[in-house]
Amino acid sequence: MTDFAATKAMFEIPEGVLYLDGNSLGPLPRAAQGRVARMLSDEWGKMLITGWNKAGWMAMPMALGDRVGKLIGAEPGQVVLGDTLSIKVYQALAATLDMNPDRRVVLSDSGNFPSDLYMAEGLLRSLGRGHELRVVDPDAVEEAINDEIAVLMLTEVDYRTGRLHDMAELTRRAHDAGVMTVWDLAHTAGAVPVDVSGAGADFAVGCTYKYLNGGPGAPAFIYVAPRHAERAVPALSGWLGHDAPFAFEQSYRPGQGIERMRVGTPPIIQLTALETALDIWDMADMQDVRAASIALCEMFIAEIEASCPMLTLASPREAARRGSQVSFRFEHGYAAMQALIARGVIGDFRAPDIMRFGFTPLYIDADDVRAAVAIIRDVMQNRLWDRAEYKTRAAVT
Ligand SMILES: *Cc1c(COP(=O)(O)O)cnc(C)c1O
Repeated sequence: MTDFAATKAMFEIPEGVLYLDGNSLGPLPRAAQGRVARMLSDEWGKMLITGWNKAGWMAMPMALGDRVGKLIGAEPGQVVLGDTLSIKVYQALAATLDMNPDRRVVLSDSGNFPSDLYMAEGLLRSLGRGHELRVVDPDAVEEAINDEIAVLMLTEVDYRTGRLHDMAELTRRAHDAGVMTVWDLAHTAGAVPVDVSGAGADFAVGCTYKYLNGGPGAPAFIYVAPRHAERAVPALSGWLGHDAPFAFEQSYRPGQGIERMRVGTPPIIQLTALETALDIWDMADMQDVRAASIALCEMFIAEIEASCPMLTLASPREAARRGSQVSFRFEHGYAAMQALIARGVIGDFRAPDIMRFGFTPLYIDADDVRAAVAIIRDVMQNRLWDRAEYKTRAAVT
């Protein structure tokens, strides 16, 4: 059994804060402060450029990729870290389109995160081969899979509502119709158990700053199924994805397997911070995390619905169809969230009217949820949000 009291003690959570936003940015692992400071002084400070070899910096994207891979059902050597998620979406989509060259449609859904759709639009435009991005309702994805579709590109858990797609079933349907799949695990990795290889996913991508707690700007990850790893053609053919980066050849040759999905110089300070978060993940079992997350979410929904009738559940009611977040709709959701944040309950707001709360058993327990519910009840029942200062929108919501 995972010792959640022990994992909780390894995070820095400010006094008076009930942090229900680990689905957007995980909190600081306490060990990161010392580890990053030592990396700066002992490695960058003293080793300078020799740190790439001596401190093993160059191996970090693969080594930590293996550790992230364990959390998503991948084997060693199938995941690499680097860049941002938007870039990884682009790489995965470009590679899959190349593998299905006679088809012209990319299928996605309106629950996908805008950046994924924007990256697809940009890629399809620059390919200039008449591709279409077809965006359907999340419930209509299955019936929209047909032999026109080259690639099915979905985010497994909807960032607004928390609705969870059935990755194994949709992948099976896609493959039956000759469709490649790209799964975005931004809200799944570290939130629910994932089995990319069991589900047969072709490509998967995700970020490490949300549930995985790697810190702001932590690098993204990409998984390529081993059956594709030696034939995926990288659209972003950077030198570190070259077979021999330090041969400085004139022309690009893809690296071995997943290494070809590397692009440029890895962010070593961020990877060092991420390593401390993965040490905590080593103490956790994803099945325990899922069970605890469901218990917290169910309790939250029941208590909020019993006391705040003005909030409408936007997430699936059935736990099995939900990720690790709960969303409620409220017309004045932005102001209400600001009023909550002012009282230490940190969730976030997603336009047009979604109040979103993330549940992360590594550092949130039932007492935290009860305390948060008491504050939410007070703010909602007494309209404490109805003040001008809570209605001015900041740049980041
Ligand atoms: C958070 C998130 C992103 C963000 O991409 P970045 O390039 O890391 O800023 C993209 N896609 C999805 C599905 C996300 O949830």
